[in-house]
Amino acid sequence: MYIVMLGAPGSGKGTIGKILSNDLNLVHISTGDIFREQINKSTDLGKKIKKYLDDGALVPDDVVIETIKARLLEQDVESGAILDGFPRTVAQAEALRDFFENNKPGAKRVAIELDVPDDEIIKRVVNRLICTNKSCGAIYNKETKPPKVENVCDVCGSPLKRRADDNKETVTKRLKIYHENSTDLINFYRNNNALYSIYPQNLDVAVKSIKEFLKEYKRK
Ligand code: AMP
Repeated sequence: MYIVMLGAPGSGKGTIGKILSNDLNLVHISTGDIFREQINKSTDLGKKIKKYLDDGALVPDDVVIETIKARLLEQDVESGAILDGFPRTVAQAEALRDFFENNKPGAKRVAIELDVPDDEIIKRVVNRLICTNKSCGAIYNKETKPPKVENVCDVCGSPLKRRADDNKETVTKRLKIYHENSTDLINFYRNNNALYSIYPQNLDVAVKSIKEFLKEYKRK
C-alpha cells in the first residue's frame, strides 16, 4: 500500500508518517528530507533547489516529480511506502497517479489528511526540534514534547537542532502556499474516494484511528 500524507507544514506528517512506517513496515519517503540531504551534500540538485527551501517556496513541479519517480522505482519500496510532503500540487498528484498507472497498476493508494488550525501549526513549528542523526530523525517540541536532556535526542543521544526554515516568517509563507494548493489537492483525493481526514489533537488517538481506517481500506 502507498500512503500519501497530506497536511500543512507542521501538521504532524513527519511524526505520524514515521510511526506508521514502523508499525506497518513501510518505507517513509519525505521529499523535504531528500532535498535537505542534497543541499547538505552540495550536489547539483542541492544547489539548484536551495533557494526554494530557504525562501519557504515550492521546488518546481518537474524537479520534484523526477525526484520522487526515481525514488519510487527503487527496490525497497516495491510493496509500498509512505509519502510525506508529496504531492503538494494537483500537477504532482496527477503525475503520481500516472506513474502508478504505468508502473504499479494494481497498487493500493490512499491519502491521509492531517487538518490542523494555522495558529496551532505556527506554535508547533517554531518550537520544533529535530534529531540531527538522519537514521533517527526523532521530532521534539520544546513545549509539548521536550527531550529529557536539553538539545539531546532521547532515542539516540545525538544533538537536536531547529530546521533552518522553522521560523515564524517562513512558516507563515509556507502555510500561505499550502492553502493556495490544498483545496484542489484534497478534492483530487476526495474525488478518488481515497481520503481520510483527521485533526490529530492527540497523537496516540490519531494513529489508532488512521490505522483502523487503513485496515478497513486494505480489506476493500
Ligand atoms: P518539508 O520538509 O516537507 O516541510 O519540505 C521542506 C521544503 O522542501 C518545502 O518548503 C519546499 O521548499 C520543498 N519541498 C518538499 N516537498 C516538496 C514538494 N512536494 N513540492 C515542492 N517543494 C517541496
